[in-house]
Amino acid sequence: MIKIEEQIPLADKNWFRTGGPARYYCQPTTEQECMQAVAFAQQHQLPIFVLGEGANILISDEGFNGLVIRPALSAISINDQQATVTAGAGVSIQTLIDTCLDNGLSGLEEFSGIPGSIGGAVYINIHYFQFLLSQFLTGARVIDVHTGQIIDVDNAWFCFGYNQSTLLAKNHYLISATFTLKNVTDLQAAYAKGRRDEIIRHRQQRYPRSNTCGSFFRNFLPSEISFTANGQKIPFVAYYLDKIGVKGALRIGNAFVSHQHANMLVTQEPASTADVIALARSMQERVQEQFGMVPQSECQFIGFAQHPLL
Ligand SMILES: Cc1cc2nc3c(=O)[nH]c(=O)nc-3n(C[C@H](O)[C@H](O)[C@H](O)COP(=O)(O)OP(=O)(O)OC[C@H]3O[C@@H](n4cnc5c(N)ncnc54)[C@H](O)[C@@H]3O)c2cc1C
Repeated sequence: MIKIEEQIPLADKNWFRTGGPARYYCQPTTEQECMQAVAFAQQHQLPIFVLGEGANILISDEGFNGLVIRPALSAISINDQQATVTAGAGVSIQTLIDTCLDNGLSGLEEFSGIPGSIGGAVYINIHYFQFLLSQFLTGARVIDVHTGQIIDVDNAWFCFGYNQSTLLAKNHYLISATFTLKNVTDLQAAYAKGRRDEIIRHRQQRYPRSNTCGSFFRNFLPSEISFTANGQKIPFVAYYLDKIGVKGALRIGNAFVSHQHANMLVTQEPASTADVIALARSMQERVQEQFGMVPQSECQFIGFAQHPLL
């Protein structure tokens, strides 16, 4: 039977290292335990939050008044003939990439160095330059939070887009995902490992390595862009954040804008989530004042009574 704990701290389970506790918390290790966790939430009429590695979330200082489920589903299985790999929701992205390359399967290395679990990665459809995780996903198992049943779904079911998947509606949670990759020779695998290492080196120079959620704001959608430069609509939020001069300069409490990247907010312990919110709002207001557009967050907010930003 699944073990459910009470009042478990979450600050040590997310990358900002801020936020209050979970009222209830569990780490299911099997599909059966995932079903038991969902049944517990239904029985006690609790909201559910499914936590991965906490690399893309900001948890309120009050914590989460419900059940936090952190899937510890860590199995990886490879089908050589079909060039597929299936990974549990709790497998970290880098572990999956490394396992694939060690087994002569190439493709996912473009996502090297992106922190997080497979659950969090499929949820937001992680992206790096022109690559989207959805280009490789061919199947998955998800649990329906209303019925508690686990179902098999295909790529089309997810309605993937930029920062977009069916999972955002929070009616289903990922149990495992199957990716179709390319079988490669030992030599090609060695080349792909070199590419992996190069991407990781490049990222380590460009981005802060801790106490951040990566890009805090998402790029603008075409319908949101009212500003033009040289007749061009610019979707990249980092362009606007660079222009307002906050990079490495703006600080509120123990939260500040990284000197490496204008769209990365970083905390210094002991920071509070309120510091991060105040900083993000100040950035929104500055972009709005100068460009008439309000950046919207890519980071997911957990445990807030209402949306904390503009
Ligand atoms: C330094 C840094 C660099 C980054 N660079 C990139 C980048 O280049 N590209 C990119 O796309 N992202 C990037 N990110 C963002 C982050 O790595 C991804 O969003 C990642 O997928 C988060 O995974 P997670 O397991 O930490 O999810 P969490 O932060 O724990 O959760 C994020 C969301 O996913 C949901 N979720 C988690 N598990 C499941 C599940 N099993 N089923 C359904 N929903 C689930 C959560 O409920 C939550 O809403 C970066 C982050 C950092 C800190």
